[in-house]
Amino acid sequence: MPDCIFCKIIKGEIPAAKLYEDERCIAILDINPIALGHTLFISRSHYATLADIPEKELGLLTEKLPRVCRAIVKGTGSEGFNIIENNGRCSGQIIPHLHFHIIPRRANDEVRFNWSPRVYQKDEMSRVAQAITDCL
Ligand code: 5GP
Ligand code: ZN
Repeated sequence: MPDCIFCKIIKGEIPAAKLYEDERCIAILDINPIALGHTLFISRSHYATLADIPEKELGLLTEKLPRVCRAIVKGTGSEGFNIIENNGRCSGQIIPHLHFHIIPRRANDEVRFNWSPRVYQKDEMSRVAQAITDCL
């Protein structure tokens, strides 16, 4: 995609701190990390979101994800990590090219996710579950 930042990084038109690449993916440091070592694990093929990639291709794409995560944990001396994958503008996706954020974590770090858990009302849970399973 001509105007896609990640396609440009993949083509080498924009520089990036590259950690890993193969025929399916490229892993680079995020330019504005929320923790040092915050990495973007990017599909080499341009798909806007996770919902757009064929299932088998996603399997191949994520094959090396555990290896990259282990290297990030070891290399940054962290204790764990979050994987975040935004889909659509409403979810916070800025670059519509499939990618996973890998965020190194340690106890008492300053990374915060602003989740506000809610409670299902009566019958709401089964209605929601049914509506989704009807679409599978
Ligand atoms: P999204 O919100 O789409 O899931 O995340 C896009 C991420 O790409 C952001 O965390 C942002 O900091 C990162 N980013 C945007 N432009 C560049 C760039 O030119 N180089 C790198 N390395 N990261 C970028
Ligand atoms: Zn792209």
